[in-house]
Formats: sequence, C-alpha cells, structure tokens
Amino acid sequence: MPPAAERCHCRRMRHAVVSGASMSGLLAARALVEDYDRVTVVDRDPLPADVGHRRGVPQARHFHTILLRGAQVLDEMFPGLVDELVAAGGHQADFLSEARLVVAGHELVRTVTGASDIQTTRPVLEGAIRARVANHPGVEILSGCDVVGPVVEGGRVTGVRIVRDGVGDVLDADLVVDAMGRSGRARAWLASMGFPTPAEDRIDVDMVYASRLVRPAAPFPDKLVLVGPVPGRPTGFAFAAQEGGRWMVTAVGMAGDHPPTDEAGYLAFLKRSAPPDVHDAIAAAEPLTEIRLHRFPASLRRRYERLRRFPPGLLVFGDALCSFNPIYGQGMTVAALEAQALRRCLRDGERDLARRFFRAAAGIVDPVWQLNAGGDLALPEIIGHRPLTTRLLNRYVARLQRVGAHDPVVATAFVRAIGLLDPPSSMMRPGVLARVVVGGMRRS
Ligand SMILES: Cc1cc2nc3c(=O)[nH]c(=O)nc-3n(C[C@H](O)[C@H](O)[C@H](O)COP(=O)(O)OP(=O)(O)OC[C@H]3O[C@@H](n4cnc5c(N)ncnc54)[C@H](O)[C@@H]3O)c2cc1C
Repeated sequence: MPPAAERCHCRRMRHAVVSGASMSGLLAARALVEDYDRVTVVDRDPLPADVGHRRGVPQARHFHTILLRGAQVLDEMFPGLVDELVAAGGHQADFLSEARLVVAGHELVRTVTGASDIQTTRPVLEGAIRARVANHPGVEILSGCDVVGPVVEGGRVTGVRIVRDGVGDVLDADLVVDAMGRSGRARAWLASMGFPTPAEDRIDVDMVYASRLVRPAAPFPDKLVLVGPVPGRPTGFAFAAQEGGRWMVTAVGMAGDHPPTDEAGYLAFLKRSAPPDVHDAIAAAEPLTEIRLHRFPASLRRRYERLRRFPPGLLVFGDALCSFNPIYGQGMTVAALEAQALRRCLRDGERDLARRFFRAAAGIVDPVWQLNAGGDLALPEIIGHRPLTTRLLNRYVARLQRVGAHDPVVATAFVRAIGLLDPPSSMMRPGVLARVVVGGMRRS
C-alpha cells in the first residue's frame, strides 16, 4: 500500500502524538504510521542511542519475557525482529522442552509444544523496536520532553503541551495517545476538562521483585526456569538465559513476603522455591550486577470502555489502560495486541475512534485480567472477593496443573492459554477436560 500521504492529495497532513516511548508508545506508533502522515513519539527521558537503562522504565532491570502470542504478533508487526534479537544473543525457549515451569508446586511434564517466548534483557528488546519505529518515514522520536498537559479546543484534544530544557512548547495533533504507563495522565486530563473519569479495578498483591544478572559457572541445561507461588508460600522466581552468556535471576515475593537484597538472605529466599539444581547453579554463578528491587503494589485496570463521554482526539494505551501483575509476563504482549486492534479501528476511520478502540481493547484485556485474578486469588494470602465461579474455576485449574505434571496434552493446553495463544476457555475444551477429570481422579 502507498504511504498515507500518497493515498489522498486532497486533504491536509495528519499528525499523531504518542506520549511515552516505552514499549506501548512504540507499538502504538507502529500502528499509527499506517494512517497518519506524521507520528511524533515524545518521552521525558533522554533515550539511549541503542541499548541502555533509563529512569522512566525502572522495571527494565528485571526479568521480561515476550509471551508465546506476543512473539508471533511482534514478528508480524516487525518482520525479522525475532531473528534479529536471536542474532543479538537473545533466546527463544520452546515451552516445555527448553523451559521448565513449576506451577502451584507441580513441574509441568517436558514436551515440545512448538511455541516459544522471546528472552532478551528489556533494554535490548526496547532498543530494537525503537530503532525499527524510528526508521519509518514520518516518525520522529523526541526525547527529554516532559508532556505536561493536553491542548483542548471546543471539547476536543488538539495537541499536548511539552516542556523541553525548561522551555514550554505545544505540539498540535489530530490524535494524542497516552502511553505514559500506569501513572498515565489521562485521568487527570479528563477531570481538568470536565469529563468523567474511569472507574478503576484493583487487585492488591503487595509484591517486590529482586533481580540481578549472573554468569553461570557451568552450562545450564534449560533456557528458562519459572517457579510460581503456592498457597502458604507466595514467592517464586525466574532464571532466564539472556544475551552474552548472562542469566537473569529474579526473585518475587507477594503479600508482604518480600525478597531481601543481602547475599545470604537472597539465596535463602530463592531456596524456598527453587529446585535444588537451580538453587545450586545460582549460588555458584558469578554475580554481574547488584540486586535491584522493584515494588508493585497492585494490578490496576481503568475502565475507559465504560465512559459515556470521552473527548475526541485522545486515546489511552498499554499500562495506562491496564497494568497487569508482572509475574504473568503479559504487559507487552497485550500492548502488541492493542496495537493490532488500533490498526483495525483506524481502517474504519476516525469517527467514534475512542469508543471503538476502548471496546476492542477491553475485549483483549478482559480474559487476561480474569485469568490473572484467578491466579492471584488462588493464593489465600491475597485479599479479595472470591465469587463462586472463581472458586470453582480455581479448583479446576489446580487439578489441571496437577495433571499437567504427567499429561503432555493438558500441559500444552495450559501453556498455550497462559501464553495467550489460546483463550482461557480452551483449558476446558472437551479433550482437555476429560483428561483433567480422569487424570485428576487417578492421581488424587
Ligand atoms: C517488575 C516488572 C516486570 C515485568 N515483566 C514483564 C514481562 O515479563 N513481560 C511483559 O510483557 N511485561 C512485563 N512487565 C510489564 C511491562 O514492563 C509493561 O507492560 C511495558 O513496559 C509497557 O508499558 P508502557 O509502555 O505502557 O509503560 P511504561 O513501560 O511504564 O513506560 C512509560 C513511558 O512513559 C514515559 N513518560 C512518563 N511520564 C511522561 C511524561 N510526563 N512525559 C513524557 N513521557 C513520559 C516514561 O519515561 C516511559 O518511557 C513487567 C512490569 C514490571 C513492573
């Protein structure tokens, strides 16, 4: 298809501004280049030329995986990206032949599912995507620019006010996207414009991540080990191959059961959940960085799709819409799915865009939020209402996880659902359900 500017010579140039140049902002920009002549992505941070950490994305020092579905979608959006990341030293771990998963205390049976994640350090991933987005004609990425508010004319958002090097300026735009993360400003903007603000759903998890990079003393047989929490021990960890022979160790503790940062305490914390061979490999590895903490108090979902009035010219995207419990590793995959949804919405024009996009995004977020709520509330340590459906579903999933320790069909169904390749309901399709019921009786 010719660039948007060539399709119609009779109209003025159209400009979109994306606030936030982290993963969601970059993916939103990728969607917008199809329909806008110019796309400006603005971030408060000075952005590294290629790969590096920055203040606005502190979670980048912790384990990040692109789920099975996300790997597929990103490779569609950026052809050749996965090969490029692997060539740069990243990994793809086939679930479950190269990835070891221990869920609710059960190690899933090793089998080839044919589905892989993408494992790189987060700055490498973001750097590769930023370079690809920046290469699109019409895209400009402005770093060191604080977005401080919307420009509003006649009830419509027509741009953003920015501050750069202490100097204020205005970027006019036909569309403004808030991709400024979970503390995104759109709610405050709406209030200041006299629009209703969205209700917020919240699951308190009181979680802390503690991560460091290490170099194993000897080759490790898997590419990824993930151990989830169990009732009575709301902790877990990830041990993941990264670029350059480095491995990411991430310890996670929920409900106030937090990992310490002193060497002995950190290893003792890992020992509570790690299989002995993994603990020994981590203990023998050479530490390459200090242990860094990241606090995550609660999952947050803002219900923009329920608002009856919303200003034209504005969208909200990524973590600003929904910030998921990171132990499920879904944020970037959901942002990629939202980018696909945005492209589809834009194909039908701009009329009523926000309502159509928020509805489409809710369709993506809903099943993922429900899946996570089930996982969180399976832990008695997490406070929250457990309706009968949640309790029944959790009993079924607990049984499925138990059967998945020896049944490859059941383990594959579980992995495909948590990898967002298949909907959560696929874990209850007849071929799986029968095996869970029969297998569960045999083992109980
Ligand atoms: C500990 C942890 C681990 C995670 N692990 C995974 C994982 O394994 N897999 C996964 O898919 N997801 C994971 N996530 C989630 C993932 O990091 C996010 O979903 C992803 O970064 C997309 O978020 P975002 O771009 O919407 O917001 P953010 O990543 O928070 O980025 C917001 C951006 O907005 C910029 N910004 C903020 N304010 C302003 C302003 N006023 N003006 C201009 N710019 C501004 C910031 O500098 C930043 O660049 C994890 C999250 C955490 C906290």
